[in-house]
Amino acid sequence: MSELGEFELISRFFGLGRRSGKTNDSQSDDVLIDIGDDAAVLKIPQEQRLVVSSDTLVDGIHFPKNSPSALIAQRALRVNLSDMAAMGATPRWFTLALTLPEVNESWLSDFSEALHADAELFGCRLVGGDTTRGPLNIGIQIMGTVDNELEAITRAGAEPDDLLVVTGTLGDAAGALDYLDSEGLDQSAADLLRRYWIPEPRVEFAKATQQFIRAGCDISDGLLADVGHICKASQVGVEVDAAKLPISPSLSQCCGSSAVAKALSGGDDYELCLAVSPDSYEDISALAREQGILITTVGRFTSATEISCINADEALSSAGGRDSNGYQHF
Ligand code: ADP
Ligand code: MG
Repeated sequence: MSELGEFELISRFFGLGRRSGKTNDSQSDDVLIDIGDDAAVLKIPQEQRLVVSSDTLVDGIHFPKNSPSALIAQRALRVNLSDMAAMGATPRWFTLALTLPEVNESWLSDFSEALHADAELFGCRLVGGDTTRGPLNIGIQIMGTVDNELEAITRAGAEPDDLLVVTGTLGDAAGALDYLDSEGLDQSAADLLRRYWIPEPRVEFAKATQQFIRAGCDISDGLLADVGHICKASQVGVEVDAAKLPISPSLSQCCGSSAVAKALSGGDDYELCLAVSPDSYEDISALAREQGILITTVGRFTSATEISCINADEALSSAGGRDSNGYQHF
């Protein structure tokens, strides 16, 4: 890193003067040693446990080459925040391992502005990282906390007859893939692209409903794949009702008959997929209404250890029938 100098680059774009606000639920003094030393020293609040996760985005693999750096920053942080949401954790701190092909000041400026704005929005603080030269790669490690007595939401714990509940709408990010390189988009395609680049990690919803959730994960690989993780960890099966999938008008408009397949199998939505006892549904539903979050029951866990899907044909025809590409059952 010669042009600007590694240390100047770090301090200008990521350093102490650039830090975002206080971390969640805590005093700003939970960072005892900040950016600038060999490592950060963090104070974990009493009666809480540390929850740690990381996710890396690679240029040309997890997003198209030459994408706007502000969007890359938002997506990189938000996919990490989604892992905190999936655990019912409060995000507090993160580190950034940034590999850059060159020092491009306007790229870095847009990247760091967007990163700090989202960090502030979600109440978590950049406390360190690493900056090297190489193919563009954004690695974030996020750290959060859960209360001792509440414990984290995990993939294990779903029971037969629990409801399979999802937040938001599904398939939008997968629908956006067709438009990533397009220009002059209509409103529906722009909506899908927004869902791809700026997912809404359901942090507050997960925290509010944590006590009612038996098991859960976020939907990063697609509903069927991710609910499969819950089934495996919980040793249950699930019956997904394709006719109940929450599909946005934008997805229907842009993708027609393939909307259902995208909602079942498309990744990158970063919504939550939860096992909820029928007795708790009203409580969760009330909290969702309070937060203005759509939740939908899209199936039921079973004692069989298989994942099945009902009403796929019905859902397909209501979404516009088989398309000429020949829809394949998953
Ligand atoms: P070291 O050589 O000891 O690994 P560095 O020179 O890589 O330390 O980093 C100096 C300081 O700057 C450290 O506190 C590190 O956490 C921080 N840092 C480096 N890169 C970044 C980055 N991209 N974002 C945030 N902090 C960073
Ligand atoms: Mg060192």
